[in-house]
Amino acid sequence: MKYFTLDELAHSNVARTKRIDNTPNEQQKKALVALVDNVLDPLRDLFGKPVLVSSGFRSNDLNRAVGGAATSQHMKGEAADIYTGTKEGNKKLFELIRDNLPFDQLIDEKDFSWVHVSFKEIGNRKQILKL
Ligand SMILES: [Zn+2]
Repeated sequence: MKYFTLDELAHSNVARTKRIDNTPNEQQKKALVALVDNVLDPLRDLFGKPVLVSSGFRSNDLNRAVGGAATSQHMKGEAADIYTGTKEGNKKLFELIRDNLPFDQLIDEKDFSWVHVSFKEIGNRKQILKL
């Protein structure tokens, strides 16, 4: 954990506004740390500029409130939605992950409006999708 914090990965305006508890348990924290150590920190080094997180961990209640998929890896602490401020930057993040880093799922969301990336400690599928 070099560039990212657990607070940042569990932050949610929706959770705050709707008073939804979004505190990760020990297992979910462990998954978040693995996601940072294996993907987000190395990505930040490769990109050389800040990488922002729009959504990391989501409790079941928060995931329901934001309309997340029922099996979303965000609920396990295994996924983050990341962005840079420009679509070109987001595309670059996508390419850097695809070409250099381990991942389970890598998704180009809405023509690089943001990038979803997930990581599992065992059994990463290296699946690439466009939604
Ligand atoms: Zn996502």
